[in-house]
Amino acid sequence: MSLNIQRNDQVEVISGADRGKRGRVLRVFPDESRILIEHVRVVKKNVRPNPQKNIKGGVAEQEAPVHVSNVLLVCPSCGPTRVGHKVEGDTKVRVCKKCGAELTATRKSKRK
Ligand SMILES: [Zn+2]
Repeated sequence: MSLNIQRNDQVEVISGADRGKRGRVLRVFPDESRILIEHVRVVKKNVRPNPQKNIKGGVAEQEAPVHVSNVLLVCPSCGPTRVGHKVEGDTKVRVCKKCGAELTATRKSKRK
């Protein structure tokens, strides 16, 4: 099963410590139903210095994956919304469940 959320989507977090935050989807992990969202669920990681890779030690910040059930896709006209589907010809498009607007992906994928 594929996810309703795709890379570069704008999503809003609806539960957890980051509730209400919006961000762009950086990565999708379909097998785990998790996504990585820019500036959301940022965790601090202690980094050991590695002079060979020119890495200074200290604390680095990094996003942690969020389960898709904790986010809603943001519709440009009504805000956070559930996603529906509509079949047009032989393509399936995502639609906003509130206003019915098509939520087109930023980049079309030919894979099914
Ligand atoms: Zn809408």
